[in-house]
Amino acid sequence: MKIPFQSFERMHEAIRPELTAKFNAVLDKNYYIMGGEHELFEKNFAFYVGTKFALGCGNGLDALHIILKALGIGEGAEVIVPSNTYIATALAVSYAGARPIFVEPKAGTFNIDPAKIEDAITERTKAIMVVHLYGRPADMDPIMAIAKKHNLKIVEDCAQAHGAKYKGQKIGTFGVAAGFSFYPGKNLGALGDGGAIVTNDEEVAKKCAMLRNYGSEIKYQHDYKGFNSRLDEMQAAFLNAKLPHLDSWNAARKAVAAKYLAGIKNPLIELPLPSDETFDCVWHIFAIRCKERAALEAYLAEKGIGTLKHYPIPMHLQKAYTDLGYKKGDLPLAEEISATELSLPLYIGMTDEEIDCVIDALNAFKA
Ligand SMILES: *Cc1c(COP(=O)(O)O)cnc(C)c1O
Repeated sequence: MKIPFQSFERMHEAIRPELTAKFNAVLDKNYYIMGGEHELFEKNFAFYVGTKFALGCGNGLDALHIILKALGIGEGAEVIVPSNTYIATALAVSYAGARPIFVEPKAGTFNIDPAKIEDAITERTKAIMVVHLYGRPADMDPIMAIAKKHNLKIVEDCAQAHGAKYKGQKIGTFGVAAGFSFYPGKNLGALGDGGAIVTNDEEVAKKCAMLRNYGSEIKYQHDYKGFNSRLDEMQAAFLNAKLPHLDSWNAARKAVAAKYLAGIKNPLIELPLPSDETFDCVWHIFAIRCKERAALEAYLAEKGIGTLKHYPIPMHLQKAYTDLGYKKGDLPLAEEISATELSLPLYIGMTDEEIDCVIDALNAFKA
């Protein structure tokens, strides 16, 4: 049996009539940037997350970058960023002109360790960029307390956690603003690139809305040197069709994860933590850890089971970030995760037979 790491086929096939209807509607309207679908999506997404404002933009990286710009965080500032994340989190800080300061995760959770944040704070620190990695909420209570104590802004990178909840509260509502990505593979994905900024702060919303559209509110009147980062009408329309399915898709992801958690029993494999009352995970990625990862990866590939590594090279050791001066050994937990993490197949429409096939293969793995 061939089981890909990810597939959109069954998810999209199930809603093909809704997607084609949206395509036709936009085509017939002959209006392709910031029209009625865009406006509707902003309303729908704000309602879904539970914020006053949602602003469509070009992608998740831009969402985070624009938020930092709107907050006036740039040259000379430091922003705390988890060491274990996708590079976009750090790049948003770099784009804004500030310096990312990496903080290690709490072992087992993959997310930033609140106990290690204070050591990284200096007089230049302006914000903490919290990432809810792999769909699991970061531990927000202690992070909020630290931010309050040191008068720091919290910006949430929600690119991997649409709909996840921390103590019953949706992620994206904890910080001053949050960025979402609708890259096709995310829990809510467009059929191309897309992103959104959410916030309850009217001033931040207004500035972000202008920054994403050439710094303009009134056509041809530019208050800021803004960006061209808009969520186009076609993608907004597809997202309007897909958003009503997000909760059931997240439930489907949780069902796959529950089967993996119950079924995988191999001492060579460390499973991710399950959800509980505090951390309601939406399983963007089901991340296992294995010391013999290369062997496991090859063994699964041999059986036709696709996997990916999130992420094979930690940010601080990427060539792009040599300027920060980090070296191997500086962030041992992030390095260990990038050397041992393996992501299992998880997509909408996965059958029990496919899930069992992955479980059986993992249980039969020997080093
Ligand atoms: C995907 C992702 C982003 C960036 O989103 P894009 O839409 O690809 O720009 C940012 N942060 C994290 C954690 C992501 O996974």
